[in-house]
Amino acid sequence: TSIDTLDILVLAVLLLGSIAYFTKGTYWAVPKDPYATSSLNGSALKKGTRNILEKMEESGKNCVIFYGSQTGTAEDYASRLAKEGSSRFGLKTMTADLEEYDYENLDQFPEDKLAFFVMATYGEGEPTDNAVEFWEFIQADSPSFSESSDEKPLGNLKYVAFGLGNNTYEHYNSMVRGLDKILTKLGAKRIGAAGEGDDGAGTMEEDFLAWKEPMWKELQEEMGLEEREASYEPAFSVEEKEEMNKEDPNVYLGEPNKNHLEGSQKGPFNASNPYIAPLAESKELFTVKDRNCLHVEIDVSGSNINYTTGDHIAIWPTNAGMEVDRFIKAFGLEEKRHNVISVKGLDPTAKVPFPTPTTYDAAVRYHMEICAPVSRQFMDTLAEFAPSEDAKKEMKKIGTDSDYFKEKVANSYYNIAQAVTSVHPGPWSSVPFSCLIEGITKIQVRYYSISSSSLVQPKKISITAVVESVRVPGAGHVVKGVTTNYLLALKQKQNGDPDPSPHGLTYEITGPRNKYDGIHVPVHVRHSNFKLPSDPSKPIIMVGPGTGVAPFRGFVQERAEQAKRGENVGETVLFYGCRRKEEDWLYKDEWEQYKSNLGDNLTIFNAFSRENPDKKKYVQHDISANSKLVNDLLQKKANFYVCGDASHMAREVNEVLVELIGKERNVPKEKAEQIVKSMRSSGVYQEDVW
Ligand code: FAD
Repeated sequence: TSIDTLDILVLAVLLLGSIAYFTKGTYWAVPKDPYATSSLNGSALKKGTRNILEKMEESGKNCVIFYGSQTGTAEDYASRLAKEGSSRFGLKTMTADLEEYDYENLDQFPEDKLAFFVMATYGEGEPTDNAVEFWEFIQADSPSFSESSDEKPLGNLKYVAFGLGNNTYEHYNSMVRGLDKILTKLGAKRIGAAGEGDDGAGTMEEDFLAWKEPMWKELQEEMGLEEREASYEPAFSVEEKEEMNKEDPNVYLGEPNKNHLEGSQKGPFNASNPYIAPLAESKELFTVKDRNCLHVEIDVSGSNINYTTGDHIAIWPTNAGMEVDRFIKAFGLEEKRHNVISVKGLDPTAKVPFPTPTTYDAAVRYHMEICAPVSRQFMDTLAEFAPSEDAKKEMKKIGTDSDYFKEKVANSYYNIAQAVTSVHPGPWSSVPFSCLIEGITKIQVRYYSISSSSLVQPKKISITAVVESVRVPGAGHVVKGVTTNYLLALKQKQNGDPDPSPHGLTYEITGPRNKYDGIHVPVHVRHSNFKLPSDPSKPIIMVGPGTGVAPFRGFVQERAEQAKRGENVGETVLFYGCRRKEEDWLYKDEWEQYKSNLGDNLTIFNAFSRENPDKKKYVQHDISANSKLVNDLLQKKANFYVCGDASHMAREVNEVLVELIGKERNVPKEKAEQIVKSMRSSGVYQEDVW
């Protein structure tokens, strides 16, 4: 028996030893709270990780879709690609804001994974705000990757590229073109063509759709992916919270973020945190049939917001009541519009585009761009939820046939609610709310060139905006711009106008929980490079027809003030244009006053395009007619500024300038072009166009 006992003892020791060996000592370690660990090294930290490889690894993704987006379209396309890649090809996709990651480790991007780049080009061939850092990094002579130092550090990277641009700009789609060149040079391999969408020709959506099919095909072959029948899979869970009601203090009724929900406004105020600013004053600069123009003064004295002349202010819009109602009704949400919902991403990388819990009404009114042009692909997606077989067929046809889509939807300028109800009166109650959140872009702020001088009124920002109203030929309805009509409604209310709901559009003017009462509007300021010379004695030439005059009112206001203060102010020349003297001449009386300060140093040329119907006159003509003056000023180191319509005016002004330099300096066209180009690159020629 003693042997037995010894045996047992030996066995026990051996057993303990092997447990220790196989468990690597974990039984002896201090017990860890798995929750504590994951919140320390896990979610809390990793959520904010700027390491894209780590992020993909941890969330089980093999395809990242980066976007550089300014107005939300590139972001929207990125989401759509992510969705399609997952539902049709089983890729594990995620979208990524370029701003949220670092790129030193792009050289370690695994061979079996994929990166997409959806890149908008902004302004004069510039990256969008969220792509600035990425662009600086990648376009450096030799980007400092963490591991590889060889010639082709991105040899493992497979990528897909699509650009969003506007062919009326000189640097058409320069972001995607530039990036494609750089990535190729660094050894990365592109799959499919580098797509280019053209906003200038109005074909962005069709360009995108036409590009992506062959791209998916190539991708499929390259990666050995199998296509499957795609049916809709929601990205978000939308849970109705019966136990909550909309008066609960933690329910968002349109408040942009937690600060605002909790009732305090804390700076800094920026693109994710607006300041709810009082409107100091609002008026109409002119009103003629179907056209009016607003001048609005926004008081930022209660905030730490600063601006300098030439900056932009962003207005956070609210949808018109009539459109919110139309949408709610079309999708069968009438009875539950004020129910509280909690929206969550079903995947850790899916971002809910608005704060929740909220209500259907608040999400639609404050956060979704429900009036925008409809995407053809979205019509196709909605087909599966149509209220009848016929409607489903029709939606499929609209969604897959671009001519038919044009005829039935685009030519009528329908928004999504109008588009679906034109197919079937509805209600389209089977459409999951998640599908609407995904298919409709989040509402975008609208920028305005500040039309006041920060020297004259540092805490009062003015904007000059034409109210958007487009009568659609043949369709029998008028498309109303979201933000400008909201501003018009604020102006009507502030001035006690007899018709406080312009064109029957009512707005929730007092905002969520009446927080905007007393005529307030949410805003933030974005700094721009569109700036007066720091030395006021330098001459300036400004070209700004229509509302393009906005920043130049600020410029002239500033120079008049400098003159008043006894500073030496240089020649100040403005080329302005509008339709008629008596109709839409902006700030007609103010210019006289500035003239009294600036004297002969202020020269204004007015081109009235419709005064003489046989001979339309535009700013371009006035510039040509004064080529000697313009050239002389340029030779005296004048800055040259253009603001307003990007599609025609700005380009034509560029051409006129080339011509006049050729003529006045007696140089060939190529040389004149070279001169204008170098004026642009040295910041002498500045544009603020939209
Ligand atoms: P939106 O609702 O955005 O509609 C605009 C247009 O889109 C409509 O008129 C229509 O043509 C089209 N559209 C809308 N819905 C549909 C549909 N369903 N189908 C087809 N087409 C549709 N503007 C100024 O007036 N003054 C300024 O000083 C100024 N400065 C700017 C500075 C910058 C840097 C930028 C980028 C823009 C600037 N703008 C300025 C333009 C301004 O930002 C807005 O775009 C403009 O006021 C229209 O906004 P909205 O919300 O009223 O119209």
